[in-house]
Amino acid sequence: MATNLRPPQGPAYALRTNCNEKSRLEILGAICSERMGSQACKREPAFAQDVVASDYGWWQPAPDLGLPGYLPDATQPVGASFNAIIAEDGRDPLSGALALRSFACDVTPEESTSWQGWRSFAVAERREECSDVVGLTLRPVDGGSLPAFRPGQYVSVRMGGAIRSYSLTGAAAASPEAYDIGVRHIAGGRVSTAIRHGLAPGDVVELQSPKGGFVLPLRNEFPVVLIAGGIGITPFLSYLETLEGTSHEPRVTLHYGCRDNESRPFQHRLEALRQRLPNLTLVTYLSQPRSGDRFDRQGRFTVSDIDPELLHKRARFYMCASDAMMEEVSAGLQARGVPAFEIFRERFRSPAPSALDRLVPRRIHFARSGRTLTWSPQVPLISILATAEGAGLRFRVVAVSDNAKAVPCR
Ligand SMILES: Cc1cc2nc3c(=O)[nH]c(=O)nc-3n(C[C@H](O)[C@H](O)[C@H](O)COP(=O)(O)OP(=O)(O)OC[C@H]3O[C@@H](n4cnc5c(N)ncnc54)[C@H](O)[C@@H]3O)c2cc1C
Repeated sequence: MATNLRPPQGPAYALRTNCNEKSRLEILGAICSERMGSQACKREPAFAQDVVASDYGWWQPAPDLGLPGYLPDATQPVGASFNAIIAEDGRDPLSGALALRSFACDVTPEESTSWQGWRSFAVAERREECSDVVGLTLRPVDGGSLPAFRPGQYVSVRMGGAIRSYSLTGAAAASPEAYDIGVRHIAGGRVSTAIRHGLAPGDVVELQSPKGGFVLPLRNEFPVVLIAGGIGITPFLSYLETLEGTSHEPRVTLHYGCRDNESRPFQHRLEALRQRLPNLTLVTYLSQPRSGDRFDRQGRFTVSDIDPELLHKRARFYMCASDAMMEEVSAGLQARGVPAFEIFRERFRSPAPSALDRLVPRRIHFARSGRTLTWSPQVPLISILATAEGAGLRFRVVAVSDNAKAVPCR
């Protein structure tokens, strides 16, 4: 049996049980990798050449997160479960036990367009989505193909040494030609300010392959409730636009809150979705509407706005809003009997600043040689000593201990 589910990034390998001695590899069983991007098996640099790792045991689908099961079924004729690829003939003749720890099989690389590390993308289009949100279409500079993503996933963007994540906003196509993101300007924010004021069509940024475990279900027997605040609409926009081309879409209710219409991005696209998706109920909230603004309800969304029938039908809840709002809504839902594991959240946060971010270039004077050099923080970090040595300064080590010291640096 072949397995072919794709990982979110990095090469995938398909497993086959009809192994021959020539290409025989051992699979390490009982390894629980994260189920973010179902993978058949993986190779790690630390593994011996003839070893790959495969998941063992967790084979049930997780429809709430759009994850397929690992066992083959009618809709998914291949699976990635260790259970599915081991065969009865691997039974130990003495104990009768199945070979759970290792099993010989063929392993062949699968085609994958995911990439590892950073790839250059050019801004193909820039749109003003509202007063402070910029929409960008990013195309790979190398013109190569792009991996599919699942609605709700994001890309990491590197600009000027800073890394930030942005949810993908377009429909999740099988072979996307570009990626779309929407970026809200945060006053004083390093990357969003650079995007708002400095990024124009033709400019290049670096991206990592799409990833993320906040994935919205294209099929689910339970209703889906989406709760978005401000720019937190981005993963849901991708979801709703993806649902457009599918059948069996779940019943979806989107509660979307903003301050006013000027700060409400993607209005036309959401209104179009309201018209085109028969199973979508869209409720917009404006906390400080201006005259002429169009909306469904005035004020902020609260748990009491949720239709009790949806609670009764065990709807699944997906939130992307401020921490305070998500805390409040989550507590309110749980007080109404919704189990915590049926509530999913995406937090829009920048990574904590690293120690390197706080470093600034310094001029360093070497008294004995009389030379002055400028040391700059960079990745990977180059020490002051190495910078000086690179500039031709030589040091005499006067004491060697756990903290070796060189003298001429004062
Ligand atoms: C998975 C994921 C998906 C994301 N998707 C999007 C998206 O689709 N669109 C988008 O605009 N952003 C998104 N973000 C947030 C984004 O990654 C950055 O955090 C945001 O753009 C601010 O970066 P900055 O460099 O401009 O600000 P920074 O220089 O990092 O921060 C400056 C100040 O702003 C505060 N701050 C940071 N983020 C926010 C925020 N969201 N709201 C209020 N204050 C904030 C910081 O605490 C800090 O005080 C996402 C984050 C994650 C983790």
